[in-house]
Amino acid sequence: MFKFRSLKKKFLATVAAAAVGFSLTFGAPAVASASLLESAIGIGLQGAALNAQINENIKLFNETEQGRQALYQNFRQKYGVSNNAEYNAMLDRVMANLTRSVAKIDPTINDKPYLYFVSAQESVNAACSMGHVMMVNAGTFSKLANEDEIAAVVGHEMGHGQKDHVAKGSRKRVQKLVTASLAGAAIGATVGGGAITSAVANIALNHSIAHGDRKHESEADMLSLDYLLNTNYNPGACAAVMQKFVEMEGTQGKRSDMAKFFNPSDHPDSDKRRDAYVKKLYEYSGKHVTAADGVITIDKKEFIKVAAADNMSGAERSYFVLGNLAVAYHKGLNKQAATVQNGTVMLGNQPIITPAQGDEDAYTIAERLNAIK
Ligand SMILES: [Zn+2]
Repeated sequence: MFKFRSLKKKFLATVAAAAVGFSLTFGAPAVASASLLESAIGIGLQGAALNAQINENIKLFNETEQGRQALYQNFRQKYGVSNNAEYNAMLDRVMANLTRSVAKIDPTINDKPYLYFVSAQESVNAACSMGHVMMVNAGTFSKLANEDEIAAVVGHEMGHGQKDHVAKGSRKRVQKLVTASLAGAAIGATVGGGAITSAVANIALNHSIAHGDRKHESEADMLSLDYLLNTNYNPGACAAVMQKFVEMEGTQGKRSDMAKFFNPSDHPDSDKRRDAYVKKLYEYSGKHVTAADGVITIDKKEFIKVAAADNMSGAERSYFVLGNLAVAYHKGLNKQAATVQNGTVMLGNQPIITPAQGDEDAYTIAERLNAIK
């Protein structure tokens, strides 16, 4: 039978090796599968006993401080660390704000704070692995429009983290991989369990595992919006990011590196995810406010068509106006007058839109808002 203590000893030996030269291999699953075949046959593990050992390895990476620190170091080594001061400062702020917000909904975050970093990768990408190990690519900061959008992406990752999606997904995936390799194999002598530890680490480090299940993806999306609603970030940022992806997929093709990650083949499309967010904001506003194709509608009456500005298309930017209006209606501020303060249209004390070139002027917008709200 499998013994936790002896595995822990082997695991820590692997982790120690990782600290100096990183002995865990980063091959494709097929490579891991070959080494697993040898070692699992050697150990003579099958079925339930093998699954138990896989599960214990996942637990070590996911729940022990040594395990998650090792995974964190391995992530930094594999993907590189960005020294961009602006990106790092922004991620620190986003993590502080969202950690406070998540703690109100799910206090378990206090027991397992996130180990995060800005990776050196240039693609629009982020991942949350086992043990609340998280990275956001430098490319995400350079291509998204603002901090609110970064918060929307990070909130999605924290949704995966809080619901333990990677550990749950990995268990099934690793078990399947090993079990398939073992089919019809002879059962032999003795080999250590280090290969299984390596295989689990491999899978944890492969960031496609972070976004690997359609149901998990939808759950993480909605959690991100819940988390943002407890902060000062604009909750429309979630839909805006999806709109950005729709537009990027349009120019780069559906199977670009970005699309593969945020939108693997068995996942809901970005436009459907955007529409799910819009529906939730509509409900949050008390079923008053919605947006489509850059046009904001209040109580079924057209309010404004939003112009492109601030590194966003009109459609992307319109979701920020929608987010502001949803918050105002949710707080009952629609009972107060719309005004213009320093060039910004306000509803009560809630900013709604600061007109840019191409938008109508603030007084025209405020007047229409007062007429239809
Ligand atoms: Zn995801």
